Amino acid sequence: MYGLVDCNNFFVSCERVFDPQLNGKKVVVLSNNDGCVIARSNEAKAAGIPMGCPAFKIKEHTDPNQVIQLSARHIMYHDLSNRVFNIVGKEVVNLQEYSVDEAFFTLRHKDVKTNHQTMAGLVKKINQYVGIPVSIGFAPTRTLAKIANHIAKKDRRITDGVYWLIRPEAIDIILRRTPIEDVWGIGRRIAASLKNKRIMTAADFVKMPASIVRSQFSVTLLRTQLELMGHDCQIVNPVTIAHKTIMTSRTFGKVLTSRDEIADAIVSFAEKTARQLRDESSVAGSIMVFVRGDRFREDLPFYSNSCQLRLEIPSNDTMTIAQQALKAFNIIWRDGFSYRKAGVMALDIEKGKAIQLSLFDPYDHGKLRRLMTSIDSINNSYGSRSVKLAPSLIRGEWKPNQNHFNSASQTLHFYTGMLNP
Ligand SMILES: [Mg+2]
Repeated sequence: MYGLVDCNNFFVSCERVFDPQLNGKKVVVLSNNDGCVIARSNEAKAAGIPMGCPAFKIKEHTDPNQVIQLSARHIMYHDLSNRVFNIVGKEVVNLQEYSVDEAFFTLRHKDVKTNHQTMAGLVKKINQYVGIPVSIGFAPTRTLAKIANHIAKKDRRITDGVYWLIRPEAIDIILRRTPIEDVWGIGRRIAASLKNKRIMTAADFVKMPASIVRSQFSVTLLRTQLELMGHDCQIVNPVTIAHKTIMTSRTFGKVLTSRDEIADAIVSFAEKTARQLRDESSVAGSIMVFVRGDRFREDLPFYSNSCQLRLEIPSNDTMTIAQQALKAFNIIWRDGFSYRKAGVMALDIEKGKAIQLSLFDPYDHGKLRRLMTSIDSINNSYGSRSVKLAPSLIRGEWKPNQNHFNSASQTLHFYTGMLNP
């Protein structure tokens, strides 16, 4: 039995945690550079603002003066996401974070009644402790758990935020009411070609002969069909789950004022982020860097900023990511301030995607990949960061207050000549 916990209108809910005046209002969160809508409050949904709507087109749907538009603050969302999943992780087993606001898990006990109380309690607890509303759906497969979660979300008064889609008769009824494009794993294009074949609902799709699904579409779609029938195909297993964002950040051991020291930290975070991407066989489409002063030092002027840059080609290569991170850092760096925290975040992550090469690409990607594999294997054998990028060989003054490290591993100096902080 799978459970899926999903935060409702996540980015908007995060904003509401810190500003309750947003409650009950039409609120949208905008993507990088305030481009288009990436999250909507229920009120904004009801006003007809579609997901992905460009900010300047909001006026086509409703009075823009009544819509509160907010720029995304991914670092804060990431932090609240961690808090939510920490609480969930204590009550369930096999928690698998699927995205910043969703995670699958399995249940400890089979008794649905006791579990319903526990799960309704969990929904309440998360709201009380973190302030984020969540919904939980249960079903025999992950694809059905997605549908169950959707019902839990839409019908909150009836379900306490928890819905069990278990009885075969109930599954039949729900599949008949589920439009084909709402099934997890069926994108717009596939939905359109299915509709051409008069497959309008999930129930129609289940009736389609498996041989046709396989020959005219793909094995992946066949798995989706089997999952809708209640056969667990392990569509997502913990190993293949990729994070949608990866963040490496630290609070420094003391406030720092030197650009070199912080650049040193940024490169080291970029290295760690790239390594994690490679471990997950993922590539990042853009990189975000943030710096922050110390809020509690009233004697120092406070400064905080972040910058997100797209990579020309999605990558998991340490040098590319470090270069981009330094570029972003140079944009937000201001002299004369003190800094207490910084971080690097990989965004627009895609799993197992082949790197698309650009015609004028100056890098030999095969060579870079072999280099990264060698660095990873040296670091695996001799301790992490035995081989690292040159700018991060400076003093390391940014390091957090952790004075009990084993310093047995030696550092090999590895210089690429490609970085210029
Ligand atoms: Mg959500």
